[in-house]
Amino acid sequence: MNLTELTITQAHNGLKNKEFSSVDLTKAYLEKIKKSDKELNAFLSVTEELALSQAESADKKINSGNFGELTGIPCAIKDAILVEGQKCTAASKILENYVAPYDATVIQKLKKEGTVILGKTNTDEFTMGSSTENSAFGVTKNPYDKTRVAGGSSGGSAAAVAANEACYALGSDTGGSIRQPASLCGVIGLCPTYGSVSRYGLIAHASSLDQIGPLTKNVEDAKIVFEAISGKDKMDATSTDYKFEEAKVELKGLKIGVPKEYFAKGIDKEVEKIIKNSIKKAQDQGAKIKEISLPSSEYALACYYIIGPAEISANLARFDGIKYGLSVDGKDLLDVYLKSKGHGFGAEVKRRIMIGTYVLSSGYYDAYYKKAQEVRQFIRQDFAKAFEKVDLIFCPVSPFPAFKIGEKADDPISMYLADIYTIPMKLAGLPGISLPVGKIGELPVGLQIIGNHFQENKILAIAETIEKL
Ligand code: GLN
Repeated sequence: MNLTELTITQAHNGLKNKEFSSVDLTKAYLEKIKKSDKELNAFLSVTEELALSQAESADKKINSGNFGELTGIPCAIKDAILVEGQKCTAASKILENYVAPYDATVIQKLKKEGTVILGKTNTDEFTMGSSTENSAFGVTKNPYDKTRVAGGSSGGSAAAVAANEACYALGSDTGGSIRQPASLCGVIGLCPTYGSVSRYGLIAHASSLDQIGPLTKNVEDAKIVFEAISGKDKMDATSTDYKFEEAKVELKGLKIGVPKEYFAKGIDKEVEKIIKNSIKKAQDQGAKIKEISLPSSEYALACYYIIGPAEISANLARFDGIKYGLSVDGKDLLDVYLKSKGHGFGAEVKRRIMIGTYVLSSGYYDAYYKKAQEVRQFIRQDFAKAFEKVDLIFCPVSPFPAFKIGEKADDPISMYLADIYTIPMKLAGLPGISLPVGKIGELPVGLQIIGNHFQENKILAIAETIEKL
């Protein structure tokens, strides 16, 4: 039996039946990381000692008989989520030596379950990007084709799960960063409803959009991790009293909306074929397919690249060379600020801070920021109207499969287009999943299933049914 190929449920059963221990499992993963991660670069840091001591504690828990599904299961955490006492870089030079002083709420919850943390995974700097090429510490390669990207920004987490370097991982999604890399790496990626998982201890990108979620090998595992990390948290005022409950929904009679705007120009023909084929399969099982329209989606990218940067310019102001991380000496305080930020931030982060500062400036606030907020309302209304008629929405995650490393790195607009199908629903705060449904050659393609607010249970139930078809 290859331990690193097991799903959470399979590993849990093995632990329960004493076929192996959590220490065995953890060692197998650490070995696998040693073997394959030099080339892949999914991990920014591997916390071997912490992992082994957590595994030993987990084994004790298991032996006492009082343990849960995640006890002793090794995972990987995106390096934008704080794990107490461990480095948290957000893949930025400005935080290269920053050590987290506390655990994010999701980490507290996972530790309580007795999970094992193998290390921190690569991301685009401050989670801004779609390929991990914006990481200050090198790109993560796609396990299916090492000349291609793993997607982003949670590319390290997606690649780690796809390459069996972790049993599951946590990522974060602001405009697509869980679902897009999951699609490109052929794993499950769940972006929860805004508010269902605490953001406390996640390094902020755009606070009105950021959500933490799981990347896993199958849908059942996503359900397990989501259940463990969701819920109200007094440290995050936007978190809600969400309680996950399994839903009994079947494809028979299910109304599936297919947005006509998502199959227009720009989509790879092979991707389109695979997505349409899986919609057809759902129809064959008795689902009712309805064409829907999300007309404001056309403006979603423009809207996102105003609201996102506006929030970024506020959130990243704290990295001034005084309070956190890198500090470069200067002749006066302003000079310290300028030099620290100048050396510490990469090009994409600087670009967004500048755009954000501009759209919030008094002369342009009404023309850009206020207008973008209005557009966001229209996008919300589009989805609300659609969900009056349908139960779930099916569409692609990404218009194309994994692209070549370097192919889009110098062209921000073409990189931004990678998220054309993942950003609109994010502006509406909706949940969505990426489910692998086919391949183009070696390259995986994910189907996106979007639900109404707090309908993760419906999404997961239907994703599980489709996974088994
Ligand atoms: N690619 C998008 C961006 O660069 C989304 C990133 C994310 O979801 N963190 O903003």
